[in-house]
Amino acid sequence: MDFAFTEDEERLRAEIKAFIARQLTPEVKAQLIAEREGHGRGPLAAAFFRDIYERGWLGVSWPKQYGGQGANRFAQYIVEEEFYRAAQLVIGGGGTGVPAVLAAGTEEQKRYYVPGSIRREISFCQGYSEPHCGTDLAGIRCRATRHGEIFIINGQKIYTTGAQAATHIYLMVRTDPNSKRQAGLSILLVPMNTPGITIRPLWTIQSDPPAPPKTTYGEPRTNEVFFDNVEVPATCLLGAEGDGWAVAQRGLNLDRVGAWRYLISVMRDEDIVNLIKKDEPPTEGLRQDPRVRDKLAELWTEGQVCRLMTMRSLSLEQRGGRFKYEGSAEKIWAPEHGVRATEAISQILGPYAQLLNGSPHAINNGVFAHNLLGAFQSTVNHGSVQVMRDQVARKGLGMPKQRN
Ligand SMILES: Cc1cc2nc3c(=O)[nH]c(=O)nc-3n(C[C@H](O)[C@H](O)[C@H](O)COP(=O)(O)OP(=O)(O)OC[C@H]3O[C@@H](n4cnc5c(N)ncnc54)[C@H](O)[C@@H]3O)c2cc1C
Repeated sequence: MDFAFTEDEERLRAEIKAFIARQLTPEVKAQLIAEREGHGRGPLAAAFFRDIYERGWLGVSWPKQYGGQGANRFAQYIVEEEFYRAAQLVIGGGGTGVPAVLAAGTEEQKRYYVPGSIRREISFCQGYSEPHCGTDLAGIRCRATRHGEIFIINGQKIYTTGAQAATHIYLMVRTDPNSKRQAGLSILLVPMNTPGITIRPLWTIQSDPPAPPKTTYGEPRTNEVFFDNVEVPATCLLGAEGDGWAVAQRGLNLDRVGAWRYLISVMRDEDIVNLIKKDEPPTEGLRQDPRVRDKLAELWTEGQVCRLMTMRSLSLEQRGGRFKYEGSAEKIWAPEHGVRATEAISQILGPYAQLLNGSPHAINNGVFAHNLLGAFQSTVNHGSVQVMRDQVARKGLGMPKQRN
């Protein structure tokens, strides 16, 4: 088995690295952070994305007929990896929305959403969770009632991250009022500016003080979204009416793999290794400590397992295969590695590991302390590790469904 990238792929990586070194100035970075916080896109950030677009790196693996480059999943991985590493930007083709549109959308939807996403005129937030159901997603109550060629939506979503900046919500609703559990659910792609939608912020533990750039799960804000007689055309439906569970599962699986999923868990290891190697106060001398060296080597090895699992999933996707348990296995290993890593780092750094952004003695603006606050949630969101273990037991090991 050959784990190396091809020459073309390495050339692409070098080109992206050079672009980032040249174009991602501190001023551009500041505008990207402001945009993430919901302050709209500044002119420098707009020019930055235009340049990336012109180079064909947005939607690099998406089909050419919809404006992509038709490149393979590994090219997308490289684009994602370099931009995520540099500025936590999810670029290249991953994320909520388009992968599911490509898998389940009509021709008209593909022609609208894919080029729009590539130009970054369209972005999705994910509307699954509700106040009474997160893990138990099949309990969805948010309802869309069909009246001929329109749906009327009523209900509430919670933890809708990025709703304040997204143009559309990828919304799971119950379209059959008499249905139970997974049956009778549908996915609607709803423009966020539709009358009747209200967004209310939910500030996270990372908001005060604001987590510094490079924090994993450093989002200062998520949201509640309310739907009050929201009227949308039936053309907003993604996939068949009532087939929302299957559409969502496929979308979620595609969303669980990719460079950024791997990096959110592994960048912590890289950051601590780089810090210890510098050998400066307050970590001076630690690079000679056998306990620290041993722990870092262990974390690094675990991190490489994350990488290999990602590669396996990409290779499967590239060959047109469907995930059975692979995305779930990845979604257990990587977040749990992230938790182990942040805990080990806080033991290595001692009291300094507790200091948040703004403290004069904080290391790297408190990034390690903020990572410690954020790590646990990656074991819960996007399918908790407990639920993922159940998927691996059933779909990977062929064990029967658990009786309650
Ligand atoms: C910061 C943040 C951002 C988020 N962003 C989004 C978003 O953009 N869009 C969106 O739709 N959702 C989002 N979520 C919601 C996230 O997906 C849910 O929090 C998650 O699905 C868990 O649901 P819950 O919070 O209701 O917890 P619960 O479902 O109450 O689960 C709590 C714990 O109990 C465990 N548990 C529950 N049921 C079982 C079971 N049957 N067997 C074993 N263990 C079980 C879970 O594994 C978990 O550890 C976000 C959450 C957070 C914290």
